[in-house]
Amino acid sequence: QEHPSVTLFREYLRIKTVHPTPDYYGAAAFLKSAAEKKGLKYQTHECVAGKPVVILTWEGSDPTLPSILLNSHIDVVPVEESKWSTDPFGAHKDENGNIYARGSQDMKCVGIQHLEAVDRLKQAGYKPLRTVHISFVPDEEIGGKDGMEKFVKTSEFAALNVGFALDEGLANPGETCMTYYGERSAWWIVAETTGPTGHGSQLFKDTAVDRLLKFLQKYHDWRQVESARLHEEGNPKGLKLGDVTTVNINMFKAGAFSPDGLSWQTNIIPSSAKAAIDMRIAPTVDLVVFEKELNEWADKHGVKLTILQCMRSNPVTSTDASQSPWWATFQDVCKDQSIKPELAIFPAATDSRFVRAAGIPAIGFSPMNHTPVLLHDHNEYLNERTFLKGIDFFTELVKRLTGLQKHNLDK
Ligand code: ZN
Repeated sequence: QEHPSVTLFREYLRIKTVHPTPDYYGAAAFLKSAAEKKGLKYQTHECVAGKPVVILTWEGSDPTLPSILLNSHIDVVPVEESKWSTDPFGAHKDENGNIYARGSQDMKCVGIQHLEAVDRLKQAGYKPLRTVHISFVPDEEIGGKDGMEKFVKTSEFAALNVGFALDEGLANPGETCMTYYGERSAWWIVAETTGPTGHGSQLFKDTAVDRLLKFLQKYHDWRQVESARLHEEGNPKGLKLGDVTTVNINMFKAGAFSPDGLSWQTNIIPSSAKAAIDMRIAPTVDLVVFEKELNEWADKHGVKLTILQCMRSNPVTSTDASQSPWWATFQDVCKDQSIKPELAIFPAATDSRFVRAAGIPAIGFSPMNHTPVLLHDHNEYLNERTFLKGIDFFTELVKRLTGLQKHNLDK
């Protein structure tokens, strides 16, 4: 006899919400039917046609109080089917209770855990003081541009009156549960230079490559400093990847290549050069100062900058229990449920960054300890007992968060 929450989870995993053509309407229909069965209010909002944000709501006894948002993304990343031992959309469960499917860790598990936690409280006759919204958003796996990034700017989002949000974390093979209170700010930059061209035997001043290398040197130096901090012998400061800034110069272009890219025209000084840098800036860096210096440095070396992506505001969520009743509650529930949260800055990006930038505290948490990190990997799986234990945790957490009286962080 399978637990009904596990059955629901496996049904959700079988819906092919995989890029590049996620079945968003299939997922919305599934969630609508679940909402009807559980007596939750169902609504959708499309910031971009064909990409619904689904919101299920359980209203509290005082709907004027800021609400709790339980967010997950509907979409999953593509699979290399030949590398999987079972159908990645079959949700096969083996004799140990491991459920194999794309999205089993990232993050359909959390979406169903949120839903089942609310349902359990409802079944038990609990009456929440605050309203709780369970949101399912599109496109997180392709940057969130048409999903959470747009949604947080709508009047529909404002109407949810969110005071505190939960979103995804990562699995951990160890005992602790990773708990993310911030993210790094991703800056993707293209630097372009021009200069005199001519025969490769000349010694012109300020060639395109000269200028580009001088510009890049500063960021390469920063990379060396951060790398030394992260890889310091014995890691005395206990730094994780999210605590440092990463700088990777990932693309270069200069010179006269043949159209097939195979011939080397080494005797022409190129008239232009460009490079692309991927920087993930730690929350401890002042982004205003960083951007000012970036522009000054580019001007100094005659570099034209194109910013492909950036985040100019990158607040972190308070983890000071004396200041934040949200965090104090989270911490208390972890203690009661014998869960050990391990605080960290998320090394990549999630939808939490848009929520935090909108001024709302958010914690990234997927209760998956003793679980290998398999997101985006072949044979992604989650054990059903870990999944069910996560529902126990969220049930208690949602109960306590929605029961919180008006406090200092309520607007
Ligand atoms: Zn995810």
